[in-house]
Amino acid sequence: MRGTVRSGALYFEAKKMLPGGVSSPVRAFDPYPIYVRSGKGAVITDVDGNDYIDYCMGFGPLILGHARPEVMDALRMQLDRGTLYGTPIEKEVEMARLITRFYPSMEMMRFVSSGTEATMHAIRVARGHTGRKKFVKIEGAFHGAHDSVLVKAGSGATTHSAPDSLGIPEEVTANTLLAPFNDLRSIERLFLENQGQVAAVILEPVIGNAGPILPDEGYLQGLRELTARHDVLLIFDEVITGFRLAMGGAQQHYGVRPDMTVLGKIAGGGLPIGIFGASREIMSNVSPVGKVYQAGTFSGNPLSLTAGIETIRLLEREGHAELARKGERMRQGLQSIVNELHRGFQVVGLGSMFQLFLTDCAVRNYTDAKRCDSILFMDLFHKLLERGVYLPPSQYETNFLSTAHSEAQIDRTLDLFAEALSEVLG
Ligand code: PMP
Repeated sequence: MRGTVRSGALYFEAKKMLPGGVSSPVRAFDPYPIYVRSGKGAVITDVDGNDYIDYCMGFGPLILGHARPEVMDALRMQLDRGTLYGTPIEKEVEMARLITRFYPSMEMMRFVSSGTEATMHAIRVARGHTGRKKFVKIEGAFHGAHDSVLVKAGSGATTHSAPDSLGIPEEVTANTLLAPFNDLRSIERLFLENQGQVAAVILEPVIGNAGPILPDEGYLQGLRELTARHDVLLIFDEVITGFRLAMGGAQQHYGVRPDMTVLGKIAGGGLPIGIFGASREIMSNVSPVGKVYQAGTFSGNPLSLTAGIETIRLLEREGHAELARKGERMRQGLQSIVNELHRGFQVVGLGSMFQLFLTDCAVRNYTDAKRCDSILFMDLFHKLLERGVYLPPSQYETNFLSTAHSEAQIDRTLDLFAEALSEVLG
């Protein structure tokens, strides 16, 4: 480690001009975050010249690693032709073809510029389609930073102790009903208490924003059945899980077809994107065909579609089996470390998603996750940072592997984890 003087100086200046010195709260940590200059494969390099094996991977989009040459080449070709036209482009059709192939639940879709926008509009469409105001959100799930979903949101909203936000009128969140993850009865109760008023249930089928929390066996199937019985739309927010758990996301992995799907992150190959889609009938509510308004200058922008299409094609060719093996290697390695230290910490995850929950209790929902020792986690985070491993800076995030992570890098990370964890517990 060469020191991080330049990062410190930049942060000092940034704090005067940017709230908390950052452009998104999840990036901030004490005493100052590292400023990254470049990324290649599984490694990022900071402005002081330190290398880190990266498990944040831009918070999920970079499933092929940083600066994958084929994606960069495709972007360069597009750049030579311009960045934005404000007209339809051929790549929208190409991307839509790809998405409908992997997500049969998305017969029709709209491209937007972020996951936040996509969930906001998915909820608007669900309300417009059903003519109902209320929707159910799962505690600890994060669907972006728009008003109606910022209630018991995970991710940064938990890390920074602000599960709710100022500036959101109570009237707005009055229509957001909350239920714990993995609890069908509480959702059924909400349906009964709010008969004929619930438009949709929105959830991350595998929660990624309270650390990874997996659905109990049969939970998603049960939810599908329950929502169908009550005539409520089921929205899967697959901004994280889309293209990560399988080409067809969690809906393919678990064999459950939602009414509406939201994608983001990987679908943009490292550039900004959000996509929401559903059956033709539901999506026909969207303007200019229907009366649910939605628009965006940068929607379906050429660069995001270029990177997304190239990423999806490469990922299809390379498959998810190797990624899942790497995830298994990491989780088994972490489990051995925990066992050797005679601790009951929870090693969690699925496929290329993993996290070490610093709690002895199994984590099935947000309340369980909040039992973790998140202060100890930040000690562990710093010890790993000093050793050249960059995790997302919170207990309530998911670590991501990419096709670029080598077994040697994973094994090295495990050695460093063992050292760092014994040090913080020591
Ligand atoms: N949904 C989920 C499940 C997410 O994880 C995120 C972002 N972490 C969003 C929505 C919001 O996406 P964006 O940051 O692109 O607005």
